[in-house]
Amino acid sequence: MAEIPTAAISRLVTYLRILEQLESQDVSRTSSSDLAERAGVSAFQVRKDLAYFGRFGTRGMGYTVPILKRELVRVLGLNQTWNVVIVGMGRLGQAIANYPGASDYQFQYAGLFDVSPGIVGQQIRNLTVQHMDDLKGFVMQNKVDMGFLAVPPDRAQDAAQALVDAGVRGILNFAPVVIQPPSEGGVNAQEISDEWRAVIIENVDFLAGMKRLAFYILNPHLKDAPMTEDPE
Ligand code: NAD
Repeated sequence: MAEIPTAAISRLVTYLRILEQLESQDVSRTSSSDLAERAGVSAFQVRKDLAYFGRFGTRGMGYTVPILKRELVRVLGLNQTWNVVIVGMGRLGQAIANYPGASDYQFQYAGLFDVSPGIVGQQIRNLTVQHMDDLKGFVMQNKVDMGFLAVPPDRAQDAAQALVDAGVRGILNFAPVVIQPPSEGGVNAQEISDEWRAVIIENVDFLAGMKRLAFYILNPHLKDAPMTEDPE
């Protein structure tokens, strides 16, 4: 498969959200121009993003909403169960654990972890917060795929290391720090261990969004215009 820009994957997630909305409004057909308008991109962009993964519509006829939705769910891997642990059960960790939306797509919170004696042992929804010392055994026994990292910034690297040692395949990092694979003598791809190389890290930072927003409110003319050209 050709290399796919990260932004295209983000847009697929947006298209999926739009398709869910259309489905909830009993709309059965859509088109690249309709999706484009709702997503704030061009129809060319929509067709290009979808084309990375196959042919989903019929030329001139557009797409059947439930079929395109099903295909995007499959492409994004949302038709399988993902076991998740949350590391750091403070304000953010608890808010994430209590938010029900993740289970819509079979993201299951399998375990919650912290180090604070005041938090370990607490019951949050149907789970008891466990100590980090038990993370590795838990991840292995429960086939955990992902870890959400919601610890203070100065604890994030160590907690990420614990998740990598435990064998998770992906980390969603909420702490405002760059998680780095450890390497002696600087970051050198050759020195990165296989465990770290195998882990995908995604960062979520609403403060970064606020900063971008401030900049674009002050400099609206610098905001990207959606791609409008259609070379087809
Ligand atoms: P908090 O202080 O309320 O909670 C942090 C929790 O982490 C505490 O319960 C603490 O005991 C636990 N902890 C500390 N070290 C640990 C370790 N090594 N292993 C496991 N648990 C550990 O903090 P918060 O307000 O919930 O914020 C958590 C993180 O999320 C911070 O880094 C914060 O900057 C970040 N944050 C990000 C966003 C975002 O949009 N990405 C939004 C809010 C907060």
